[in-house]
Amino acid sequence: MPKPAFVSPDLDSFCLLDGLGLTVTGQHIRRDRAILECGVTVDDPWCRSCRGRGIPRGTVVRRLAHLPLGWRPTTLWVRVLRYRCSDCARVWRQDTSKAADRGRPGAVGPWAPASG
Ligand SMILES: [Zn+2]
Repeated sequence: MPKPAFVSPDLDSFCLLDGLGLTVTGQHIRRDRAILECGVTVDDPWCRSCRGRGIPRGTVVRRLAHLPLGWRPTTLWVRVLRYRCSDCARVWRQDTSKAADRGRPGAVGPWAPASG
């Protein structure tokens, strides 16, 4: 077996969040479960209707559960920014479809919407 090349620890790559537009910002580790707090890496401030600029209006938490990997259930709590268009008042959230699009044709990734 070839000698492995070690690099600095990276929780995003360990949890296969690379390319999903999420980054881990915190952790809550218990003996029986783990919760990783995440943020969305791609800003999404432009209105889908009029292309006006959105103003952040708080966050919502989207929970995603990992497919079985090891013995400790792990859940992502993704803080998703909500925006309100300053021109037409439309409201939207940052796009997290890459992170939990299992079930869609061609989708990949270990995360799925969590229940509860
Ligand atoms: Zn608008």
